[in-house]
Amino acid sequence: MEGWTVEKLHDDHAQALREDRVLYDSQTDHQRLRVFENPTFGRVLTLDDVVQVTEGDNFIYHEMLSHVPILAHGAVRRVLIIGGGDGGMAREVLRHASIDHVTMIEIDAGVVNFSKQYLPTISAGAFDDPRLHLTIADGARYMRDTANRFDVIIVDSTDPVGPGEVLFTDSFYAHAKRALAPGGILVTQNGVPFLQGNELTHTMRAFKALFTDATCYLATVPSYAGGPMAFGWGTDGAARQTMLAEVQKRFAASGIVTKYYTPEVHQAAFALPGYVARLLP
Ligand code: SAM
Repeated sequence: MEGWTVEKLHDDHAQALREDRVLYDSQTDHQRLRVFENPTFGRVLTLDDVVQVTEGDNFIYHEMLSHVPILAHGAVRRVLIIGGGDGGMAREVLRHASIDHVTMIEIDAGVVNFSKQYLPTISAGAFDDPRLHLTIADGARYMRDTANRFDVIIVDSTDPVGPGEVLFTDSFYAHAKRALAPGGILVTQNGVPFLQGNELTHTMRAFKALFTDATCYLATVPSYAGGPMAFGWGTDGAARQTMLAEVQKRFAASGIVTKYYTPEVHQAAFALPGYVARLLP
C-alpha cells in the first residue's frame, strides 16, 4: 500500500499506518530503521517494519514497564535496561530521584543516534543524564558476562525475531536472575498475548523455573495491535505483595506526574483475564 507502513508481525494479521512524511529509512548493521509521521501517533519508529515506539502512545508502555517494578520494590538504586534504544525507558526510570545508576545495553548504535535526532521527545534528555551508562553491545552477551547486580532489570527489546531473539532464551533469563540483587525484579516486554501467546507461555515457563513469583501484568498500547500487551514479571522477593497504600505513598513521594500509571492501575494490571491466565504454566 503506497504511502502506508504495513506491519506484518503475524502470518494472518497486520496493521497499517499512513505515512504522511517519511523522515528516515535506512539499513543499520542489525535491522532496517524507519521513521515516519502519522496524524494519530505522531512520529513512529519501526525496526524491520515492526512498530517499536510512537510519540503518541509510548507513555503507556514506558510508564508501566518502569514504574511498576520500581514502586513495587521501593528501594531501587541500580537499574539495567536491555534494549531501549529510543531512550523512552531510560527517560521514565531516571525520573526516580532515588535511582543513582542506570546501565543500558543496546545492540544498535544506529537506533540511539537516530532516536536522539528524529525522536528527541521520546528520550527527553535521558541520554544526557550522568546517571545513565550506555554501552552498545548484545544484551545476551552482557548478561552472560556481567558481575554487576541490579535491583530492577528491564528487557525493553524488540520481538523474538532478528537480534531480539536471544533475549527470549532460557539461558538469558537464567543469567538475568543471577544479575539480580536480593529482592530484585526482572520485567520483560512480552508481546500481545492474543496474537503472541506462545511467546508469553515460553517466558513464563522459564520464569516459573527460576523465580518464586512468576507472572505477568497487562497494559493496552494502541500501536501494539491485538489487545493488551503482557509484561513478564519474575522475582524471589515479595514486591508484588506491596500494599496499595504503600505504593500510593511511594508514588506520591516520587513527585512523578504520569499519563497512564497510577498505583491503582499498577495493582489492577496483575489481574489477568482467563485467556491470558491460561497461557501461564
Ligand atoms: N517498545 C518496543 C517494543 O515493545 O517492541 C521496544 C523498543 S526498543 C526500540 C527495542 C530495542 O531493542 C531496539 O533498539 C533494538 O536495537 C534492541 N535490541 C534488539 N536485540 C537486542 C540485543 N540482543 N541486545 C540489545 N539490544 C537489542
